[in-house]
Amino acid sequence: MPRTSGERGVAVSLILARLLLIAIIIVPSLPTARSLKVYISVDMEGISGTTSEADVGVEPDPDYDLFRRIMTDEVNAVIEGALKAGATDIVVEEHHGARGFRNILLDRLRPEARLIRGWPRPRGGVTGLDSRFAAAMFIGYHAREGTPRAVLSHTFLAGEVADVRINGRSVGEGEFNAIVAGAWGVPVVLVSGDDVVVEQMRAFLGDVEGVVVKRALSRTAAVIIPPEVTIARLRAAAERALHRLRAFTPVRMKTPYRVEFAFKPKADERIAQIVRKHPEISQPAPRTLARTCQNVNELIDFYMTALGIGLESPPVLKR
Ligand SMILES: [Zn+2]
Repeated sequence: MPRTSGERGVAVSLILARLLLIAIIIVPSLPTARSLKVYISVDMEGISGTTSEADVGVEPDPDYDLFRRIMTDEVNAVIEGALKAGATDIVVEEHHGARGFRNILLDRLRPEARLIRGWPRPRGGVTGLDSRFAAAMFIGYHAREGTPRAVLSHTFLAGEVADVRINGRSVGEGEFNAIVAGAWGVPVVLVSGDDVVVEQMRAFLGDVEGVVVKRALSRTAAVIIPPEVTIARLRAAAERALHRLRAFTPVRMKTPYRVEFAFKPKADERIAQIVRKHPEISQPAPRTLARTCQNVNELIDFYMTALGIGLESPPVLKR
């Protein structure tokens, strides 16, 4: 029997209602746009142009503001590249200790990034980094203490730390942060600085994106690649790195970590205090502190104790 137009209307309405119900049930379970969270750690010794302590604000100098501007522009370039490659959340960490870790110019920084600024912080130089990030980028970095020719090379505290070793291997700030990131499953995908740090980090990490912003001649001299050039290269490298994200693997360092901090004579008093207060820390040599760390949290804990950068202590980092 043919349906009347009224019956047809009811049938169509029922079908529409069912489709709507199905849509309500299914839509929330469909995958949302994939999140791509990027952690950008920014130091200043490896920014285009900086060659002296004065340039990076350790001593007063009229040019310091110029380098803060270049630093901010290099960070912006990395942010732009990351956004172009689909980054959905960007955290920038100020890694340079001058002025209490307050160097990036806020009125110039791109608004898409959140900035970790100031000192002290609950996890020192790796604050904010965790397993939710898809990638880490180290911008403006420098080679580790004692590296020949490298511009403004040091490890954490220039006047105090002679060497840091994890499982027998010397590490600088870049390698240390890469080990922490790796423990959380986060690969380092881009490193910038002088040619020495880029080479040093590639020797440790493999084929990551590297942007050389200056060719080192000595600890305080370099052939500068102009910021206009480095900015374009950083933008392209950040984008390229995220496009080939699957090519990178996080650093996997064997646990437990055997960690040693070797100090210079300037740190003698602090070494004695630390050994008195911390029975888990041993002193295998007069100026060396050591601890076996079962996991990344113990590694961070030891790093903060050894450098005296806990939240309870005043900020002591020069850079
Ligand atoms: Zn620095």
